Amino acid sequence: MHSAIAAGRRGHKVTLWEKKSKLGGELLAAVCPPGKGEFASYIIALQKQLSLLPNVDVVLNKTASPEDILSFGADKVILATGGKPNLPRFLGERDNIIPAREILLGRRQAEGRILVAGGGEVGIETAMYLADGERGEITVIEMAHKMAEKTDKTRYIPMRRFLLDHEVRLMNDTKIVEVTDNDLIVEKDGAAMKLPYDYIVVSMGYHPDTSLKDSLRSLGDKLVVIGDARQCQNAMEAASEGFDAGYNA
Ligand SMILES: Cc1cc2nc3c(=O)[nH]c(=O)nc-3n(C[C@H](O)[C@H](O)[C@H](O)COP(=O)(O)OP(=O)(O)OC[C@H]3O[C@@H](n4cnc5c(N)ncnc54)[C@H](O)[C@@H]3O)c2cc1C
Repeated sequence: MHSAIAAGRRGHKVTLWEKKSKLGGELLAAVCPPGKGEFASYIIALQKQLSLLPNVDVVLNKTASPEDILSFGADKVILATGGKPNLPRFLGERDNIIPAREILLGRRQAEGRILVAGGGEVGIETAMYLADGERGEITVIEMAHKMAEKTDKTRYIPMRRFLLDHEVRLMNDTKIVEVTDNDLIVEKDGAAMKLPYDYIVVSMGYHPDTSLKDSLRSLGDKLVVIGDARQCQNAMEAASEGFDAGYNA
């Protein structure tokens, strides 16, 4: 969205393809946890700016394939297709093992004994969302010594308070070793522990979605990859890269 706005303001003819029915990408999930509602006004502000640019054509429900992109013949292709959640193989493919974004977007539900695998910022926020909705007995499992290690302390302290007030159990220094149909086996302080679960909500980071990039190498310098599609970081980095790519197109 930032790329399209910046390129549009420079007078270029811009086409934005979005495979979903709404603009906003992962920020649509980011707005869902308690206290994150203001992100919605950011998405609305970007949509408004796009709508004021007659030379920017926004096409929703359009999945860009390599063939579509190559046959369109654009002078510049800005690839901002985001990332995909990490789902380590050892978790297996069980119906009750669900990526955090599916929960936040309301596409899937979890209840009963819920284990949140991964206590980074997204895991913590997902646990807050579940606790706020009184979805069950929630435990967050994090391998590192600190939960939400990359989150600023001034933000994390009230998040932790919220979780403790809602009786969410926080298990740091805890490594997931194995998953069976009924239990998550973890290692804590050198000892193995069985944690029974009804649902496991997975929040173990994101990796760039490189599927389109790999098929578009023939575009050479015409192709710019930005945001989470280049390296999964955060919305501010994606916005800044997006602006630069659009402005310099
Ligand atoms: C729960 C959660 C909370 C977060 N909280 C924060 C936060 O507080 N602060 C912060 O800075 N960041 C936060 N982030 C991270 C932030 O949302 C992402 O870093 C940012 O959205 C990345 O932007 P992007 O445009 O690169 O990719 P995305 O937002 O992933 O957007 C990619 C878009 O491309 C579309 N797409 C993919 N493939 C195709 C295709 N073939 N054709 C057409 N369209 C396609 C997708 O549908 C999507 O709309 C959070 C993320 C999550 C999941």
